[in-house]
Amino acid sequence: MRERLEEWRERFRRPLLFCARRDFALLPKVRDLELTLTRLLEEAPEELSEALRRRLGELVRGIDSLEPEEKKERIKRILELSEDLAGPEPEEEFPAYPDPDLLKRFREELRTPVQFLRGVGPKLAARLATRGIHTIEDLLYFLPKSYEDRRRYTPIRELRAGGKAVVKGEVVLSGPVQFRRRRIYEVVLSDGTGLLTLKWFHFRESHLRETFRIGKTVIVSGEVSRFGGRFEMVHPEVEDPEAPGLELHVGRILPVYPPVEGVSPKVLRRIVREAVERHADKLVSYIPPEILRRRRLLPLSEAVRGLHFPPDDADLSALNAERSVYHKSLAFDEFFFLELALGLRRSRVKQAPGIAFRTASALVERFLARLPFRLTRAQERAFEEIKRDMAKPFPMNRLLQGDVGCGKTVVAFLAALIAIDNGYQVALMAPTEILAEQHYAGFRELCGLAGVETALLTGGLPPSRKREVKQALALGQVHLVIGTHALFQEDVEFKRLGLVVIDEQHRFGVLQRAALRDKAKGVSPDTLVMTATPIPRTLALTIYGDLEVSLIDELPAGRKPVRTELFTEASRHLAYEKARQEARRGHRVYVVLPLIEESEKMDLLSATEWAEHLRKEVFSEFRVGLLHGRMSPPEKERVMRAFKRGDYQILVSTTVIEVGVDVPEATVMIIEHAERFGLSQLHQLRGRVGRSDRQSYCFLVAHGVSPGGEAWRRLRVLTETNDGFRIAEEDLKIRGPGEFLGTRQHGYLEFRRADLVRDYEMLLAAREEAFRLLEEDPALARPEHQPLKEILSERWAERLRLSEVA
Ligand code: ADP
Ligand code: MG
Repeated sequence: MRERLEEWRERFRRPLLFCARRDFALLPKVRDLELTLTRLLEEAPEELSEALRRRLGELVRGIDSLEPEEKKERIKRILELSEDLAGPEPEEEFPAYPDPDLLKRFREELRTPVQFLRGVGPKLAARLATRGIHTIEDLLYFLPKSYEDRRRYTPIRELRAGGKAVVKGEVVLSGPVQFRRRRIYEVVLSDGTGLLTLKWFHFRESHLRETFRIGKTVIVSGEVSRFGGRFEMVHPEVEDPEAPGLELHVGRILPVYPPVEGVSPKVLRRIVREAVERHADKLVSYIPPEILRRRRLLPLSEAVRGLHFPPDDADLSALNAERSVYHKSLAFDEFFFLELALGLRRSRVKQAPGIAFRTASALVERFLARLPFRLTRAQERAFEEIKRDMAKPFPMNRLLQGDVGCGKTVVAFLAALIAIDNGYQVALMAPTEILAEQHYAGFRELCGLAGVETALLTGGLPPSRKREVKQALALGQVHLVIGTHALFQEDVEFKRLGLVVIDEQHRFGVLQRAALRDKAKGVSPDTLVMTATPIPRTLALTIYGDLEVSLIDELPAGRKPVRTELFTEASRHLAYEKARQEARRGHRVYVVLPLIEESEKMDLLSATEWAEHLRKEVFSEFRVGLLHGRMSPPEKERVMRAFKRGDYQILVSTTVIEVGVDVPEATVMIIEHAERFGLSQLHQLRGRVGRSDRQSYCFLVAHGVSPGGEAWRRLRVLTETNDGFRIAEEDLKIRGPGEFLGTRQHGYLEFRRADLVRDYEMLLAAREEAFRLLEEDPALARPEHQPLKEILSERWAERLRLSEVA
């Protein structure tokens, strides 16, 4: 076999060696090199690796029409590449499904420090490190920010001002000139069709003199402008047509990289090429080829190769819009493995043994009869969906999604009652102590109506009380426990945990969800996740890829949409005036300020000082309460209670009231420094008012923001819509998913390149394909899917706790 390859190599190289003889003396006489080489390539035995075949093909294409110098370079390159065709070591070949050892070696090689790449020494490596490029893999993923068209030389006569161009011409003038009291360096080029002036305002004269000797041919590229009737380029990039490696910088679509300090673009391109040539093929991802074919996408290694050095016929505008097939392929690759991981989790959870609850419940009937209102249709529908899940002998994994105030709590409570009626316990987890406390207060009323035992368990409780609650839980005396992360600490034991309700799940992340589920030994409890944050569909698909979704898309009848208005510091007195009127009618007012760090106190209002000011100057006829982050839980509780009862009419607060508080009498919310909040966060806050049939108001005071400016326009969205989903989409566009969700929990949503908003289509495609694959092979057990598992475990196992692939 090897011999056949050897033999072919000899035949393939013969015409090339002929061309190269006597320093290419015969080259001008050679015709039809492309045709000859293309035919030979077609005859190559199968042992020739796909990668090599492709690369040789690329180099051969168009070779006849190259300038002599370029042609020489190209021939040298082909000879170089074809030298060890067989790959003296078999590692140069890439079998369709390599054994895990080979993959592992690839991975290790990709993680080699970039310093060991040819052409990179310690100094250069240190500079690359400032850009986060430490390994060869990092360099491969260091992608161009844009692309420049340097495919052809433009005749000077055809230049246009305003565009970029590459010109090849002869130096006819070269030297410093006086220009408006400045010395500048000027070169005039001629290409036979016209004259082009080159200008330098900063220069080293000896260097330019040498580069632009009169009579020399040079290639320059840059932005073309018109000055005094002649075309010119200021500080152009210069290439010497004689220089080796020229084809890297001209005659192609040029990758433009983000700047790296101390590394010139040319050097950067050279080392990236080195990395791509030698290592891109090691980026294997093994997405089944039929999937890629169906979606018209490329394998990872080719995508990366194309991103750095797109072929001449690539679509330049698609490249610059980051929508080329290479960009798409890379995004698809990232999403595919995430979705595969989520799909695996989902099918695993679905198949695990769960509790089949009896869902006809007298407890539920009794409770509903006592409830002072009727469920909305959306609430009923969500409850039906939950009941169907609970009846199945598999664990429920459902997301209950709906805008603030739509009544998720009642629905979750109904699910809890079913579990309790079946003799199980329920745990409700809130993201903060104050929210746990508020839930507890709210649920206690509901529990009273239903006659079930409830308890609070948070880190802030006195140790003796904690012990009591833990004991009661272990004995099964508490039916419903409400708490924070303290609930899944090691020493909390349940007698019979049947349902876990998680409020505001995105603050916990997938991992904690699993941890709490593990609390029920043996059988997995059902899980219901409530989120008041309207998660854009894009994100829901990724974060909650393993959950079914119930949506409550209707508010209880009689609610009036909150009226939202925007103010500046100069006009804010109007907002406070309106608030005063509302308070006089017996309604309650929130004034919200951002939480501030010591270091930025300078130009921000502090809650304490502002409360003092309001007490004296604005709301002197009312009682003003203050709630802030540094207060102890019992203190907060006391203030909240007092506000709820009406002992305070005004509550000045940092964002601790962000979610969950229920004070129906509150009709005004003033938010100071609104510019510092995310739109979704503001929408959440606004949900604290408008919880009754009275008209409510939300007044946003933006500081240092000029009406009409960007920040102002962003805030305007809130005055225009009450649709939390639309607001969330806007937020996602502006701030990105990490910001949107709080980066802390979302390390696992970091992609190398993919972007949840821009590449949304690819996300959907990846999800479809990943789920389809899992339908055929639910545990990825087939031998041809083993490499997928390998990669999954490398990329996602840790982040998503996929024990079965790890
Ligand atoms: P969410 O948690 O979805 O933000 P809540 O469950 O806190 O909303 O409900 C908001 C308020 O609406 C609560 O005071 C609750 O008692 C009330 N509520 C819930 N469902 C209904 C309904 N169907 N009709 C009238 N009021 C309701
Ligand atoms: Mg709620």
